[in-house]
Amino acid sequence: MTIALRASLLDFTADPSHSAGAVRWVDDGLLAMDRGRIVARGDHASLRPTLAADVPVQDLRGRIVTPGFIDAHLHLPQIDVIASPAPGLLQWLERYTFPAEAAFADPAVCAEAARFFLDELALQGTTSACVFGTVHAQSVEALFAQAQARDLRLVAGKCLMDVHAPDNLRDTAEGGVQASADLAARWHGRGRLAYAVTPRFAGTSSRRQLELAGELARAQPQLYIQSHVAENVDEVRWIAELFPEARSYLDVYDRYGLLRSRAVYAHCIHLDAADRARMGESGAVAAICPTSNLFLGSGLFDFAAALDAGMPLALGTDVGGGQSFSMFSAMRSAHEIARLRGQSVSSLQLWHWATRGAAQALGWGGAVGTLEPGAEADLIVVDPAATPLMARRCTPLLRRESIEELLFALLVLGDDRAVHETYVAGRPAKSAAQHRLENA
Ligand SMILES: [Zn+2]
Repeated sequence: MTIALRASLLDFTADPSHSAGAVRWVDDGLLAMDRGRIVARGDHASLRPTLAADVPVQDLRGRIVTPGFIDAHLHLPQIDVIASPAPGLLQWLERYTFPAEAAFADPAVCAEAARFFLDELALQGTTSACVFGTVHAQSVEALFAQAQARDLRLVAGKCLMDVHAPDNLRDTAEGGVQASADLAARWHGRGRLAYAVTPRFAGTSSRRQLELAGELARAQPQLYIQSHVAENVDEVRWIAELFPEARSYLDVYDRYGLLRSRAVYAHCIHLDAADRARMGESGAVAAICPTSNLFLGSGLFDFAAALDAGMPLALGTDVGGGQSFSMFSAMRSAHEIARLRGQSVSSLQLWHWATRGAAQALGWGGAVGTLEPGAEADLIVVDPAATPLMARRCTPLLRRESIEELLFALLVLGDDRAVHETYVAGRPAKSAAQHRLENA
């Protein structure tokens, strides 16, 4: 059944760093959805008469319909350690993260966590994500089962970690990669799900495991790859000791064939020019995680150098290293990091990375991250007057159609309250999540 939303419409038709006319705004717009897809979009006055008279139109004037957010990096099991104090990454892993992850040996824990996790994404307006499970196959099994029931576009993988982790969180080189291949065979391509070969990071995989992970990724180029790289200076030093044969931390992955398009590397802070050039030419995506980088004090991402090198970029929350599931927060922290580096990133650029840019980088161009007819109806309704302060600041900008300033005010002042509704495949996902959480 067709339903339509009457609101302002905002999306991008190009990358704003290359094209001045990249942002598309319809002040009094109408967007129609049917069977999970966008079927029409345009100006209300001209589009309404072309739709059947009995198509229900939700009047959302004063609000903005825009593509849902894409979170390019976060961890399912870390919902229980978000907001934990630690002096740095490696201590944080040992003290909080590893113990929390051990609980995921129990499938019931995995199922409950997966439900909560996906509900939280819906509350925040995130319609797609690249997710790390734990070392346990059942964590990803539970996540995919829940995601499929909700018809989500989601990438996930079980962590490969056969060394330098507690005994109860280690797989083996062969066993871990075999379990990954089994999960991929069962889930990749089912609905909108995709499997990612997921070495946690170079420090927790043996050479043999990286070699086998690379073989799997080479044999099945449709699969994604995800890992972490160059997050923190102590970590970078440690990886250099573990892999003296590699030119750099990134080169460890490159040597095992793990650098290609559909590969997503979180952080990418402490890279050099050769690394960045290699990312650019390989098509591997940098998932910038600004909230996490500030929270853990890991370092400041170099936006200018990454753009110069042509690195495909997306934003991630890195929950629980990041202290928020909100992509508003991720965009705000990205702005702050750019400022601390003496750089400047426009609100259009930030918003693009959180939506269409991520979709393009992940190979989903045209499918999501756009309001174009034919695209999957993954979108959000943003309320620029969600709080009295937001109303005071944003309403005049909306009236003037100052889009760049409006997006900036939204990303600075906004949080989940500004997400009026989240639509996943054309169905309201935020109200459904609120209903489930209230009745849990
Ligand atoms: Zn992470």
